[in-house]
Amino acid sequence: MRRSFASHAPTKASVSAKHWEPQWPESDLRSESRQHVMSTWGPGAPIHSAPLLRRGEGVFVYDDAGKDYLDWTSQAVCSNLGHTMPESVKQALKNQMETLPFVYSGFGLYENRVRLSSLLAELLPGDLSGFLFPTSGAEANEAAIRMARRFTGKTKIINQYRSYHGGTTSTVTATGDFRRNFAEGTGGDGAVGFVKTMNPTDSHLFSFGATDEERTSKALGFLEEQIICEGPATIAAIMLESITGSAGVYLNPPGYMEGVRALCTKYGILLICDEVMVGFGRTGKMWGFQHYDIQPDILTSAKGLTGAWMPCSMVAVSSKIKSFFEVNPLGWGSTFHAHPMNLAVAYACVKHMLDTDLVGHVKNNVEPIMLREVGRMVEKYDCVAQGRVLGGFACVDLTDPRSGLPIQEFSGKNCSHPEAILTFRKELNKNGLIGFVRPPKFHCAPPLVIKPNELEEGFARANRALDAYAACF
Ligand code: PLP
Repeated sequence: MRRSFASHAPTKASVSAKHWEPQWPESDLRSESRQHVMSTWGPGAPIHSAPLLRRGEGVFVYDDAGKDYLDWTSQAVCSNLGHTMPESVKQALKNQMETLPFVYSGFGLYENRVRLSSLLAELLPGDLSGFLFPTSGAEANEAAIRMARRFTGKTKIINQYRSYHGGTTSTVTATGDFRRNFAEGTGGDGAVGFVKTMNPTDSHLFSFGATDEERTSKALGFLEEQIICEGPATIAAIMLESITGSAGVYLNPPGYMEGVRALCTKYGILLICDEVMVGFGRTGKMWGFQHYDIQPDILTSAKGLTGAWMPCSMVAVSSKIKSFFEVNPLGWGSTFHAHPMNLAVAYACVKHMLDTDLVGHVKNNVEPIMLREVGRMVEKYDCVAQGRVLGGFACVDLTDPRSGLPIQEFSGKNCSHPEAILTFRKELNKNGLIGFVRPPKFHCAPPLVIKPNELEEGFARANRALDAYAACF
């Protein structure tokens, strides 16, 4: 007899006893994965044969057979503190678990929420003094966009083509890279009110000029013309990654960000800096925007805030925006906003970064090796076109040496030698590196706590994978 779905009433006796076993063997995990596990962004099938990771320590993660993988992109450029949680962070989490594991942020104040806000205000230059704590980078950008629109009473947001701002519908429409097409164009109509502008940095097809000065001046001229054509009265914010992250670690040319700031002020537009990836020391300064002489009106960050140990992001706003929302509804919220466990970990992590002078370590111990090793890579390989390094963040461009052109288009399509990319990815894993490769970009962004000898070992492993890539042509 067919049972109705409504009468399905699971009990402990009706589900498999293996759920009470301490650990499943690899074969069971892989077969259950094939049936039930789904992936984000790309097709799902490859995840079922990815390394089965059992534990992490320092800058390494280890698979079922005990093989070590050096974490070459800090997972998604977020495991800045590696894979060993400091005692102070564990203790903070335990204290929070034992005292107040959850409270809805609309119902009460709690100590870590106030103390973390106060500490972040001290860490930020200028008057970024009001804080929200969503749970992801995308959500922080959603909140920032909502606030910018409500504060200015205007709608449009200007973003750059070479950018990534998140996977929710608004933030992926704000995004410039190929992921935007999953929400607009092929799969839906995206969100409204997002306008794209050109990055001031060079691509192999286009440049605003031959010198930094020329690039800055032409790019700013282009942007001002665009603001006038769109209508300043319709533009709420210009929202940029302070340093483009997944699009390839590009610092804007001197004077560009200062010029954008001046245009924002001139036309009554807010400046939002997205530092989801680069905030908290990744580039050798606490904040990416400190590479320029500017002050954003809104700053978003995430990832490094908790070393990725808890899903927590932040939005910092200037005092004038904070004051506005003291008496006007903010108009954005979430059940898990300012989750006490997230904030306990965030507060302990930020203090740990200060206790250990993480930013100083990145600048003095990590950056010099990154510069040297990336320089050597570019010199050694015909298939590596250019390298950019900033603190603990580097990226090289993989080319097809037969043409000297990027191996793959920025659109994520048209790879001139897919086998070579496949080989490169496999060789990275085989040689003991784990991380993402977004051809033509190959990022080097290990945990910021990496020691000099570990970083050198990582580059040696990356070079072995590049040898195999080069041999494909
Ligand atoms: N903004 C930037 C600059 C990012 O790099 C990312 C993620 O990589 C996001 C936003 C989205 O963050 P999340 O994946 O936590 O939503």
